[in-house]
Amino acid sequence: MAHKIDPVRAVEIRRLAKNVLVKLREWLQARAGGPIEPLEMLPIQPRDVAAMMKLKYQELEEIPNPTFACANTRVDGMFDRDSSVLAVAERQGLPRMRFTAAHELGHFLLDLQLTSLREAAIDSSDSRVLRMPGEDEADLFATELLMPDKLVSAVYIEYFGRSFSANDINEDEAYQLTWGRLSPSELRALSSLQRASVFAGAKGYGGSQFPPLTEVFGVSTKAMSRRLVELNLVS
Ligand SMILES: [Zn+2]
Repeated sequence: MAHKIDPVRAVEIRRLAKNVLVKLREWLQARAGGPIEPLEMLPIQPRDVAAMMKLKYQELEEIPNPTFACANTRVDGMFDRDSSVLAVAERQGLPRMRFTAAHELGHFLLDLQLTSLREAAIDSSDSRVLRMPGEDEADLFATELLMPDKLVSAVYIEYFGRSFSANDINEDEAYQLTWGRLSPSELRALSSLQRASVFAGAKGYGGSQFPPLTEVFGVSTKAMSRRLVELNLVS
């Protein structure tokens, strides 16, 4: 993801997301009355993070939109500090709904001057849309919260054993990854994001079957593919 975020600020946001995950683990352990391993926290539930932050979390069919003049303006996520509510619209489907909720949590923690916000989920890769400055920051927070680098790397390496780049996928590996659909040269011809999507959605490799990374982390194929490229696991 091309974050146009000041590098110092990006470090702060990553640290904040990590702190939230540490607190979440403590919170979950207190509720469970016993130890919880980091991998057992997956998929990270924005609903739990909201509850931990004493926010009422709601999944709604429709989020009312009294503030926009245009009634057709779709609202996918909102929060309001006065009523301590964080809500997401169900129609996005589960993975996107979770990302939107994590994005709103990002605004809640990062944009302290904002008392309330209602917005449509806008894909950061869509360059046709002009986004407000805080949007990339909220996306970075959501990415770090839902797909923590260490956990993504741990599960990815457990599944695939090593990082892959365009030129080092052999015949056997290509067959296992795509069930014979793509040859090494066809995999090489893909963009790195497209290549990463093969790994994001793979249900087995090296003789083992497993739930795909998208399912383990509860995110879309696009979000996981970007993360694998960002972390240099697939290039
Ligand atoms: Zn936003």
